[in-house]
Amino acid sequence: MALTDSEKSLLAKIPTGLFIDGKWRDSSDGRTLEVEDPSTAETLVSVADATVADGVAALDAAVAAQAGWAATPPRERGEILRNAFEAITARAEEFALLMTLEMGKPLAEARGEVTYGAEFFRWFSEEAVRISGRWSTAPNGATRLVTMKQPVGPTLMITPWNFPLAMGTRKIGPALAAGCTMVVKPAKQTPLSMLALVDLLTGCGVPAGVVNVITTSRTGEVIEPIIRDPRLRKLTFTGSTPVGRKLVEQSAEQLLRVSMELGGNAPFLVFEDADVDKAVDGAMLAKMRNIGEACTAANRFLVHESVVEEFSTKFAARMAGMTVGRGTGEGVTVGPLIDATAQASVAALVDDATAKGATVVCGGTTVGDRGYFYAPTLLTGVSADARLMSEEIFGPVAPIATFATEAEAIARANDTEYGLVAYVFTKDLSRTLRVSEALEFGMVGINQGIVSNPAAPFGGVKHSGFGREGGFEGIEEYLEVKYVGIAP
Ligand code: NAP
Repeated sequence: MALTDSEKSLLAKIPTGLFIDGKWRDSSDGRTLEVEDPSTAETLVSVADATVADGVAALDAAVAAQAGWAATPPRERGEILRNAFEAITARAEEFALLMTLEMGKPLAEARGEVTYGAEFFRWFSEEAVRISGRWSTAPNGATRLVTMKQPVGPTLMITPWNFPLAMGTRKIGPALAAGCTMVVKPAKQTPLSMLALVDLLTGCGVPAGVVNVITTSRTGEVIEPIIRDPRLRKLTFTGSTPVGRKLVEQSAEQLLRVSMELGGNAPFLVFEDADVDKAVDGAMLAKMRNIGEACTAANRFLVHESVVEEFSTKFAARMAGMTVGRGTGEGVTVGPLIDATAQASVAALVDDATAKGATVVCGGTTVGDRGYFYAPTLLTGVSADARLMSEEIFGPVAPIATFATEAEAIARANDTEYGLVAYVFTKDLSRTLRVSEALEFGMVGINQGIVSNPAAPFGGVKHSGFGREGGFEGIEEYLEVKYVGIAP
C-alpha cells in the first residue's frame, strides 16, 4: 500500500540526522540506514547511521553539558518537562501516526502509548522539585549526618523498538528531572519517534548537549566504546536479556551505575473462584496489547482445570474476532510483527508447541503475502516442555495449560528464569495476598491485565533485570546519595 499524502508530509517533517550538541548532522562517513514499514516491508525513510566517532562526539557533548544542567534550578528543569508533556499532548496524533508507521501497532494503541509516554514527563516534572536529603544526629552525638542527592552524571540510554516513545520518555523524564545529561540510542527499526521527540524537547528549552540522539546499524561497535569510556556514569537499557547481560559485562570495567529492564515470561493465573469474563478481558489486554510484543505480555496462561473450558472458549472467540491489518486501517486491532525474523520466530514456536501435542483453537498461521502479519492464535493442551512455555513469544499467541491446586499454580508460575510481571485472577482476598507474596516477580496485576503506570515502579527481578522506572523510585536511578559529616 502506498503512503498517503498525510503520511508522506509527516515523514518529511521528521529530522533524520544525528542530534549532537544541539545540532543535526550527518553520520561522519555519510552512511544511512533504512527504516521500514513492517506492514509492507517498504522503506519509509533513511536516517543517519552513526560511526564510532559520532558516538564519542555525542558523549563529549553530554559530558560538556553536565555541570550546567545539574546547576539548572530544579523548577526550571521541571518546567521544561512540563512544557514537553504539553507539547507531546498537543501533537499526539502526529506521534501516534509516526509510531504506527515505523512499528506497526494499531493507531488506537499508538495513541495510548503517546498518553502513557507523555505522562512520564508530567510525573517527573513534579518530582524534579522534590529531590531531598536528610539530617540526623549520630547515635553517639559526636557528629551531624547530612545527606544530599546529586545527579549521577552523563547517562547512556538504549531503548527497544516495541514502545518507541514511552521507553524513551520513561528514562529521559527522570534523568532530566535529576539533572543528568544523556546519549540516547533508539532501536534501529524505530528511530523516528525518538528523533521527533528530541526535536520537540529542544523546542521546549532543553539546552544543547543535554539530550543527544544517535541512530546506528553498527550498534555493538558504536556503543561499546561509550560504555567503556570513564566519563560515562550510568547505563540504562531496555531490551532483551542476552543483550542486557553482555552490556552488564561491558559496564563492569568502569563500574557503572546500571539499570536493566529486560525480557519477561509472564504467567497469567486464573483461579477457580475468578470472574471468568473479567479474566478474559484481562487476558485480551495482557496478551494482545502491542500485538503481543511487550515484555509484560502474558506468555503462559495457567488456568484452573474447573474453569479452563469456559475461559478458553470465551478467550478464543475474542481472539478470532480481531481484525488483522495495517495499523492505520479502519477497525484494525492487530498490526504486523516488527520484521521477518520476528514473524518466523513466532511461527516456529507455534509449530514446536503443536508438534508436542498442543491444539490450535484459532489462528496458527501467517497472514497475507506482504508485511509481517501473524494471526491471533490460541493453543490449548500445551505441554510443559513446549518452547513457548519457557521462551518469550513476543507475538499474538496465547498458550493455555491447566493446574489443579494453588501450590501447583505458584510453582509453575515461578518456574522461569524471568521475573517481570505476573497476573492473577481471583475473588478471594486471602488468596490474593498469599499468591502475591509467593510470586517471584517485580510486579503483580490482580484482576487486571495491565500494570504499566507512570506513578508505579516498573521493573523486574531474576533475569528480567534490576532497577525501577516510574513512581517515586524512578528518579532515584539517576541520583547518588552523598553523606557529609559535620562536627558541631
Ligand atoms: P534487543 O535486541 O535487546 O535490542 C534492544 C536495544 O539494544 C536496541 O536499541 C538494540 O539496537 C540494542 N542493542 C542490540 N545489540 C546491542 C549491543 N551489542 N550493544 C548495545 N546495544 C545493543 O531487544 P529488542 O528485540 O529490540 O526488544 C525486545 C526485548 O526488549 C524483549 O526481550 C522485551 O521483553 C524487552 N523489553 C523489556 C522491557 C522492560 O521494561 N522490561 C520493555 C520493553 C521491551 P539495534 O536496534 O541497533 O539492534
